[in-house]
Amino acid sequence: MISVRSKLLRTGILLAAAVILCVPGIMNYRAEAAAANAMTDSKKIALTFDDGPHPYYTEQLLDGLKERGVHATFFVMGKHVELYPELIERMSEEGHLIGNHTYSHMQLSKDNGDAFREELVKTNEMIEKLTGQEVQYVRPPYGTWDKKFEKELNMFPVLWTIDPLDWCSDNVACIVRNVTAKAEENAIILMHDEYKSTVTAALQIVDALQEEGYEFVTVDELLFD
Ligand SMILES: [Zn+2]
Repeated sequence: MISVRSKLLRTGILLAAAVILCVPGIMNYRAEAAAANAMTDSKKIALTFDDGPHPYYTEQLLDGLKERGVHATFFVMGKHVELYPELIERMSEEGHLIGNHTYSHMQLSKDNGDAFREELVKTNEMIEKLTGQEVQYVRPPYGTWDKKFEKELNMFPVLWTIDPLDWCSDNVACIVRNVTAKAEENAIILMHDEYKSTVTAALQIVDALQEEGYEFVTVDELLFD
């Protein structure tokens, strides 16, 4: 919020300067350039959440993200989609991107390719039924993946660049520091929306990085823009 406000303020100052200094033709040009600059100079970064949805913490997280006007990417497990379908509908309605994290958190191995594929397909179908949207992104549990599934299922794996190990610490300040210290343009932050400490940390991370000029986007915007 703060960064948007400061950008608007900066644009306002530039516009005011243009009005004072310039003849009408140049004024329009400068005003347009300033407005375009304010729209495009943000650094994009993505928050991603695995293993949910969780009946309590995901809801809190969605409330906090909504307040801040932030979109995230949720890699959900099919067995949790089955239990909390209303949270999947809410994510979709509020502009978040929903990806697949298998049905039961299965790790791909040499011997379980068929079962792994079945878990992905089953979870895709469940999400698509709720949202009406095709699921194109997968976060394979433990990052284990086989490229053949990309063609077979038309799905793309999304790994991460910042892992604050939020699942093994309830030290909010430590999680926040870990992420903000490593933040950079186009980074993908991995978190888990099943802990109170993660929700608190994630919202503090949003506030801190928005203040530094970051814009939170869903992973499709980072991968294909
Ligand atoms: Zn996971």
